[in-house]
Amino acid sequence: MITKLIADSRKIIFKFGSNTLAGKDGKINSTLLLEFAEQAAELKKKGKQIVIVSSGAQVAGLSTMDKWARKKDIHYRQALCAVGQVELMSAWGKAFEKHNLHIAQILLTREDFNDTNRTLNMRNTLFTLVDEGIIPIINENDTVSVEEIKIGDNDTLAARSAILWSADLLVLFSDIDGLYDKNPKEDPQATLVEEVKDISVIRKQITMGATNSFGTGGIATKIDAAELALSYGIPTILAHGGKSRSLEALAAGNQKGTVFLG
Ligand code: ADP
Repeated sequence: MITKLIADSRKIIFKFGSNTLAGKDGKINSTLLLEFAEQAAELKKKGKQIVIVSSGAQVAGLSTMDKWARKKDIHYRQALCAVGQVELMSAWGKAFEKHNLHIAQILLTREDFNDTNRTLNMRNTLFTLVDEGIIPIINENDTVSVEEIKIGDNDTLAARSAILWSADLLVLFSDIDGLYDKNPKEDPQATLVEEVKDISVIRKQITMGATNSFGTGGIATKIDAAELALSYGIPTILAHGGKSRSLEALAAGNQKGTVFLG
């Protein structure tokens, strides 16, 4: 199913979570970015269009401003994201540069999606960038977004971006192979759910663990994001993005994941 979905989709949006982008040393895993850029470039050659939603500004910021690690103050958190966003985009830029591909940064807030004029502008810009062969990389604008006005997690941002761009497929890359009946990090007996045909039924059948260490996301927001995307007819794949050449492996049927189809 995953192989077919990737083969049949022209417009694909990939979301990378912070834990996936961070290497074992807690810094942005540039090898992963390089590998993904290579695989994405291959997909582009096959005529596919790609948009990325990338978390990781905090992780990248902490590598640069490690002395801010313990600062909990909101302004420091936002300042950290401002520093980290540059590092993050620089890492993506270097990864795609190797394939002669340009990237573009799009920073969005919840309000942007609620304003018809802004939505139209965002949509037009996205289309223009993609038509010109550029890889747009979207993130929440954490510097202006305080808690009350935040989208809050990049799974939802990815689903909303997928809808905005009229994507054919949303791929959520996480640090887990997919949706399990229980949190596999707490229960090694957990089994992978490979296909979800009814989200409301699956919600009752599985146990969801807590949110991640950043206090955002978690499996619940991935299910919500899949539901949102599906309400616009966009299927969603949840898969491990941190394995070697995950995209190719998924496309070739060599890596399992969860497909949300309804
Ligand atoms: P990301 O940084 O990719 O957005 P998160 O850490 O927010 O990822 O969410 C993924 C995590 O959700 C997994 O690493 C896993 O520990 C946790 N989780 C909790 N319950 C489940 C479940 N039923 N199936 C899969 N993952 C789960």
